[in-house]
Amino acid sequence: MIFTIHRGANEIGGSCVEVCTEKNRIILDIGMPLMNKDGSSFDSSVIKDLSIDEMIKEKILPNIPALYKKTRDKETAIIISHSHQDHYGLIDFVDNDIPVYLGKASHKLIELTAVFGGRKPVIKKPIYITSYEIFTFGDIEITPYFMDHACCDAYAFLLKGEGKTIFYSGDFRGHGRKWRSFNKFLHIAPKNVDYMLMEGTSISRSNRRFETEEQLEEQFIKTFKDTKGINFVYVSGQNIDRLVTIFRACRRCKKLFVMDFYIANVLFELAELGFGVPYPSRNFPEVKVFNPTLLTKRIQNLNRNDLIDRFAQFNIDYEEINEQAKNIVMTIRSSMAHEIKKIKKLKGATLIYSMWEGYKDNSYTKKFLNDIVKSGATINTIHTSGHADNYTLKKMYNAVLPKMLIPIHTVDADKYQELFIEAVVNQVIDGETIGNENKDTSLLTALEEIGKVYEKSGILPKTENDKILDTVQQYLNIICNKLKINEVQAVLFGNMVNIFDGYEIPLKSIADFIGCKPIKLINYIDDLKILDDKKLIKINNYTEPEEWQNIMTFNIAINTLTDLKDNKVPDTEKENKKIIRFPKK
Ligand SMILES: [Zn+2]
Repeated sequence: MIFTIHRGANEIGGSCVEVCTEKNRIILDIGMPLMNKDGSSFDSSVIKDLSIDEMIKEKILPNIPALYKKTRDKETAIIISHSHQDHYGLIDFVDNDIPVYLGKASHKLIELTAVFGGRKPVIKKPIYITSYEIFTFGDIEITPYFMDHACCDAYAFLLKGEGKTIFYSGDFRGHGRKWRSFNKFLHIAPKNVDYMLMEGTSISRSNRRFETEEQLEEQFIKTFKDTKGINFVYVSGQNIDRLVTIFRACRRCKKLFVMDFYIANVLFELAELGFGVPYPSRNFPEVKVFNPTLLTKRIQNLNRNDLIDRFAQFNIDYEEINEQAKNIVMTIRSSMAHEIKKIKKLKGATLIYSMWEGYKDNSYTKKFLNDIVKSGATINTIHTSGHADNYTLKKMYNAVLPKMLIPIHTVDADKYQELFIEAVVNQVIDGETIGNENKDTSLLTALEEIGKVYEKSGILPKTENDKILDTVQQYLNIICNKLKINEVQAVLFGNMVNIFDGYEIPLKSIADFIGCKPIKLINYIDDLKILDDKKLIKINNYTEPEEWQNIMTFNIAINTLTDLKDNKVPDTEKENKKIIRFPKK
């Protein structure tokens, strides 16, 4: 079983992983990108006029031809981890004969998003998954694990096939309302996993623990109590955990929770599926519904009045909202400037911003928030991430202890090795296929032969042997590419070796000089990539005659090869005392 991250190896959003055996193919998520390659935010309207081929060329759609054709080289299925656009948003372009595995609630939420966006729901062949219930697709066995995430129906997956196992974390956290599910996962986590693809959306932040939804509940209560006028909450309609948090705070403060009919529909559908969420009904008398002008017009034009009318008996009008302003917590978004105008008194009102700060960069949102401040309301932020903090990432890693850890859904792939010192981290690039490393061994075998000659005679092969140098160069390119270090960094260690030529130097001294821990020096190539620039400059002052660099390049290649081949885990105590003997010229 092999896999390819088509998008997400060094990016948040647009996740897509292709897993293949000889006979079958599974696509884990097919997300809409959140950003362009230059880091600016992705505008999904640009794809409207593009053909499938153009979208593949523009690297928007993953280059997996089987997804867009009626005939396929192997049986293919899609698995959607959860109902966030950056995990399913490109499904509209996929051939609709391909079966799609996903949670029932996720499917409902995806359908609602389509309906409210004026699009037709496209998943024709949904197959519903249940947490911990193993299913198979051809020769691949899949176990879904229910995860704690901001939306309500998110999964991680274990895939087994052809003797290999891959664990895909999807999006997760441990500080949400479903933290118990995360704890349960820690107890039953799969073992002997070959490859673990773990999200790291928040890995760049500090090591502090993220606030829990319970803590947020207390903050909402405090703000509700302190506010003299109406409370607006700026919140995503699909952040189910947050909506529950706000509802609970409302109930405890005896406030009315006034939501637009989009949010009402989301909660209603989830309640129908058995989720314990508040929704407009007799059971939740504090939940009221309002009909925002623009949204109402749009839904009426789509002839879907049923989505509005089903909450008629729980509607609240502006007269009542104005009368009871002090007792009201009302959901709001930047498309609701009309609604704000209908509120008579904004002085003393509070808008609680309860989303990711980055969304404020949107010019539309910025203007909306500025206008509300000009009207006399104050803005308060109460929010916690939908993604795991470092503490939780470590818990998941330690529960699974995979043979190889692969960063995904992150812009900080290089932080993984720092956080998981003892892990074998493989930073891949989009489009790189993993799992078939053993197939092309010719280069390694050739170098091994050269290595043997070197070990026996202690003589480096002559530099004028271009063929050997070419081979070494090729190998070095692979190392640099794999470990994301540049050739200069790799050659630096070679320079070190040359400085101490003919001397016996304790490993620790070399480590100190280079500025790294001895344990890391054992796998020195691995280590060089985390040396910071200043330390590198210090060593870089020593310049090599050009032809020496070739020799050292070779030296590094040989040493790395030995390290990689042995794949040893060094014993720190022993290794500290170890002497490195550099060969005399
Ligand atoms: Zn998500």
